[in-house]
Amino acid sequence: MIEVVRIPALTDNYIWLLHDADSEETVVVDPAEAAPVLAEAERRGWRIGQVWNTHWHRDHTGGNLAIKAATGCTITGPAGEAARIPGIDRAVDEGDAAAIGGFAARVMAVPAHTAGHIAYHLPDAGMAFVGDTLFAMGCGRLFEGTAAQMWDNLQRLAALPPETQVYCAHEYTASNARFARTVEPDNADLARRADDVAAARARGEATVPTTIALERATNPFMRARDAGELAARRQAKDGFAG
Ligand code: ZN
Ligand code: FE
Repeated sequence: MIEVVRIPALTDNYIWLLHDADSEETVVVDPAEAAPVLAEAERRGWRIGQVWNTHWHRDHTGGNLAIKAATGCTITGPAGEAARIPGIDRAVDEGDAAAIGGFAARVMAVPAHTAGHIAYHLPDAGMAFVGDTLFAMGCGRLFEGTAAQMWDNLQRLAALPPETQVYCAHEYTASNARFARTVEPDNADLARRADDVAAARARGEATVPTTIALERATNPFMRARDAGELAARRQAKDGFAG
């Protein structure tokens, strides 16, 4: 069984610390910074052996070098962005695999937020680490790719088992929920979830991870009928002040 610890970082980033008790292996996904990760691992007596990056943005790789210096870990990241991943040892792309103990992590190419963005799907653990591609009721901004690419990505993620736990890299849920309600005001699942999220945030609680089933029911980007509809929704969200 893999234990996952959520480490809040910077303004609204989540760094994910994975530990497999059988093998005693520990992996950090998208370390925005090193200090809170090293402190958490130390507190739990876990030795970090790997970093997995989803894309090159500094709020996902800023801790790479300091964690590597402190632990001697190996760093796996997107082949398409290898030159921009500090300390990268292993470049991976669609169809490659990483592993934590006996759990394989299947690499999915999900370009759009950045051109080489990847996700890590652990089918036997029922987990996906999606970086800035899929958020709770949202999706990443299209900095280096197209709406058509993002639509493909979200359809592929939607096809994962519905119970899959989805680990996003940001707490954007409350704003995403407010926007989603403007898109689908009559979606009862969405209305209920938006209320739950507002209450959770008012209590200071995190709203991530989410699940594929929840996103299929409430995420206006995953629910877009085609790339054109996703493009229009993404553009509207970029200018959304709520
Ligand atoms: Zn990013
Ligand atoms: Fe980010």
